[in-house]
Amino acid sequence: MTLPNRLAAFVEQRKQQMLYRSRRVLETPQGAEVIVDGRPLINFSSNDYLGLANHPRIAAAFKKGIDDFGVGSGASHLVIGHSSAHYALEEQLADFVGCERALLYSSGYMANVGAINALTERGDIILQDKLNHASLLDGGLLSSADMKRYNHCDTDALALRLQKTGDAQALVVSDAVFSMDGDIAPINKLAELCDQHQAMLMIDDAHGFGVLGDNGKGALEHFSVTSGQVPIYMATLGKAAGVSGAFVAGEDGLIDYLIQSSRNYIYTTAIPPANAVATSAALLVIEQEKWRREHLTKLISQFRSELSEWESCLMPSDTAIQPLIIGDANQALTLSDALLQRGFLLSAIRPPTVPANTARLRITLTAAHTETHISQLTNVLKEMLPSIITKQTDS
Ligand SMILES: *Cc1c(COP(=O)(O)O)cnc(C)c1O
Repeated sequence: MTLPNRLAAFVEQRKQQMLYRSRRVLETPQGAEVIVDGRPLINFSSNDYLGLANHPRIAAAFKKGIDDFGVGSGASHLVIGHSSAHYALEEQLADFVGCERALLYSSGYMANVGAINALTERGDIILQDKLNHASLLDGGLLSSADMKRYNHCDTDALALRLQKTGDAQALVVSDAVFSMDGDIAPINKLAELCDQHQAMLMIDDAHGFGVLGDNGKGALEHFSVTSGQVPIYMATLGKAAGVSGAFVAGEDGLIDYLIQSSRNYIYTTAIPPANAVATSAALLVIEQEKWRREHLTKLISQFRSELSEWESCLMPSDTAIQPLIIGDANQALTLSDALLQRGFLLSAIRPPTVPANTARLRITLTAAHTETHISQLTNVLKEMLPSIITKQTDS
C-alpha cells in the first residue's frame, strides 16, 4: 500500500469504527457558557477548573506583558529567549509549591516527555500507573530504560515491582488526579514505598495544581507531603491556572541537570514572556480568590447529590472530573449527542481510551459554573438516563 492509501485507509477505518475525531470550533473565550460552531452551549468539557482562562486581571497582565516584552520570546531558553518574566515566574512557582527551584517548559506534554527521558537511562526501570496520561507513557517509551505499568493505584502491585528491581534505579511515575476517572493517587503511600526502596517519585499534578489543597498549591498540599518526598513534581499552567505552559519543580540539582540535558527544554522556543507575566498574575489569583475553590467544591457535592439515584454510575471522585459511566460505547455517544441537542457540551469517552464496557461521559465542573448550570445538567441527565441505562446495577 502506498503511503497516501495507507493514510486514507486508516481514516476510513476510524470512521467505520465511529472513532473518527473532528474538532469543534469555539467562538468565544473559554467559559461556562460558550458558542461552539455558531451554537450557544453550556460547557462541561474544559479543564479551566477555576474559570481563569478569561479572568480580567490575568488578561490585563498578559497585555501589560506584551507592552513590556513584545509578543515572542525569539529563542530557546538557553540561547536568548529566557526573559526576566520567565525567571520571575520560575521563582514564584518554586515558592508556591514549596520546592527549591522550578523549570518552565512550553507544555505539559513536553515537560513529561522531556523530564522522564532525561532522568532515566538504560538499566533503570520506570514504573507507571496504568492510567497515567499519554505524555508520561510517551516519555517512558522514548527512554532507554525498561518500563512497566502497575495496576491503577495498586500500591501492593507497585511494592512487588519495587522489590524485584534489585540494583536498578527505579523511577515511579503517577498522575496526582487521573484525567479520565477523577480519582486521586495515594501519593503519601507512593512516597513511602519510594523511600523504602530508594526509588525516585515523579508526580504529574496537571489536574491538581491550583485546585487541590486549601491554598490551591496542589497535590503536595493536599497530602501534606514535602517536596523531599516527591522529588520530581510537575504541573501544567493551561488548566486551573488558565494560561499555558508547564513546569517541573524540585531540588536545585534536579533543575540544573534538566537545563543541561532535557532535550524538550533545550531545543524549543521559550513561551512568550507575556504568557509568563500572565501566569504570574494567575498564581496571585489562585492564592487570593479562595472562593473559587470553595465554589467548585460546593458544585461537586451539588452535582453528586442531585444524581444520587444514579450513584452506581458515578465514579468515586471528589474532584472537578466527574465521569458518568454508561458502559456501552454507542450508548455513551448517543447520550452525548442528545445532550448536545439540548445545549450541553460534554464528551463521550470510549474504549480504547478507557477499558471496555466503561464508556462514559466525562463531565468537568469549574468555578465558572453556577448552581443553576449544574441543576440544568442534572435535570436533563435524570430525564435521559432511564432510557439509556435500563437497569441500574445494585451497589
Ligand atoms: C493535560 C495534561 C498534560 C499535558 O499538559 P499540556 O500542557 O496540555 O501539554 C500532562 N499530564 C496530564 C495528566 C494532563 O492532564
